[in-house]
Amino acid sequence: MPELPEVETVVRGLREPLIGRRIEASWTDWEKTIHSPPLDEFKARIAGQRVRAINRRGKYILIELEYHTLVVHLKMSGRLYVAAADAEHEADRWVHARFDLDGGWQLRFSDVRKFGKVYLTENVAELLNHLGPEPLSDDFSLDMFREGLRGRKRSIKAHLLDQAMVAGIGNIYADEALFRARIHPARPADQLSAESAALLHGTIRDALGAGIKHEGASINWYRKPDGGKGESQNHFYVYGRADMPCRDCGDVINKIRLAQRGTHFCPSCQPERQDQGLS
Ligand SMILES: [Zn+2]
Repeated sequence: MPELPEVETVVRGLREPLIGRRIEASWTDWEKTIHSPPLDEFKARIAGQRVRAINRRGKYILIELEYHTLVVHLKMSGRLYVAAADAEHEADRWVHARFDLDGGWQLRFSDVRKFGKVYLTENVAELLNHLGPEPLSDDFSLDMFREGLRGRKRSIKAHLLDQAMVAGIGNIYADEALFRARIHPARPADQLSAESAALLHGTIRDALGAGIKHEGASINWYRKPDGGKGESQNHFYVYGRADMPCRDCGDVINKIRLAQRGTHFCPSCQPERQDQGLS
């Protein structure tokens, strides 16, 4: 599933072709893609609105229009791209929502698995009020992060996946952040030392920042809006590297099932019982 770095890359790639365009009409062949409001209302409200800005909150894309915000969650396999109305695109066969733009352009939402969701709202804050702080903003303070760990018996991996604790982290960058902090993914969240918590607070940002720098991970469906692949997968320490040697110590990367997700870690760099952080 696209996580913060992938979604941020999509947002950046959509700004140039989309900002300033007017949405003239919308279409879908899979009504569940349009989460809210009801489809008739959605189509009537969005028509005629111009795109003012494009931003991100957690894993949500926020296409800010004149009166509403078009909110898109890519879920497993969603792709958003702008194409000339008469131009074919490799992902077209899975397009389940389309927006006709002025100037002969279209914004297309392709979604192989059809789990993606589109919302049109006047109140983004209310729609997304379940999200915790943005990890790359000043809102994500160390104090807040430490406070969130208190009394949490669940694994630190599960904790990082909880969007109410911090927004935008998924399976990939949780594993990467934990490796960078030398913390075993199964450690109970409330068992982290103050030093480990501080280290992890920093490595969350480092792992996400690296992901953005390399324009996201094209492991499954994710592509940039221009169709190109991200390069993050070539720079991971542990994710997708089961049975391969640790880049730091040479031990074999393990893969276990944790928080219902495949979880990658180095048993030497991230020992189960010690809480020793980076030296
Ligand atoms: Zn290692």
